[in-house]
Amino acid sequence: MKIYGFQKTTLLDFPGRVAATVFTGGCNFRCPFCQNGDLVLHSGSLPSIPEEEVIRILEKRRGILTGVCVTGGEPTLQPDLLSFLEKLKALGYLVKLDTNGYHPEILHVLHEQRLLDYIAMDIKSSPAHYVRAAGLRELDMARIQKSVLFLRTCGLPHEFRTTAVRGLHEPEDFRQIGQWLEGDEAYFLQSYVHSEGVLSPGYDSFSKEELEDFLHILHAYLPNASLRGVD
Ligand code: SF4
Repeated sequence: MKIYGFQKTTLLDFPGRVAATVFTGGCNFRCPFCQNGDLVLHSGSLPSIPEEEVIRILEKRRGILTGVCVTGGEPTLQPDLLSFLEKLKALGYLVKLDTNGYHPEILHVLHEQRLLDYIAMDIKSSPAHYVRAAGLRELDMARIQKSVLFLRTCGLPHEFRTTAVRGLHEPEDFRQIGQWLEGDEAYFLQSYVHSEGVLSPGYDSFSKEELEDFLHILHAYLPNASLRGVD
């Protein structure tokens, strides 16, 4: 698999686990707030890390780490994702997959093969504003809906999360997201953070008070929704 980044230890990426994170390249979305602009647009020109090297390190770190988070870019675009996850499983790791949810069929297959232990799916915006938040001209919302339904019914631990961006989101988006995901146990609202690597500079974050207002709107439908990474 094409790997463009490898974090040997993280306490943040896989809830409840000391994990490593593997970054794949390329994405079918162009979310303007994406923090991994290079991975999304230019992965072909970035140096990659040989898969064997990553597996070798993970082999040595068994016992220290218990999980591996596979993120992107969008990992489900990797043609050999399944065989890579099989290698992680053979080493005894729990696997978390981060996805934009545009390939529900791949989530199904990976789950059928018992290769997933946790799925984190981005909810870019309310259905009405999804295409804009994903940075696309058009998008098949049915695929996103299928992935949402899959996460909610497959029995795997999962989470949904939205990065709130001033200029892209309005309070009404959070009401609609709440209605859409009503009753789900795990939803996180994250704040946009500007960085050098952002895909489309020019956006801004909401204040903590504004994020708390959005959370209040969400709580009517998602009582367990919480802010993540907001001080
Ligand atoms: S935020 Fe995720 S889905 Fe959006 S462009 Fe970046 S990697 Fe792709």
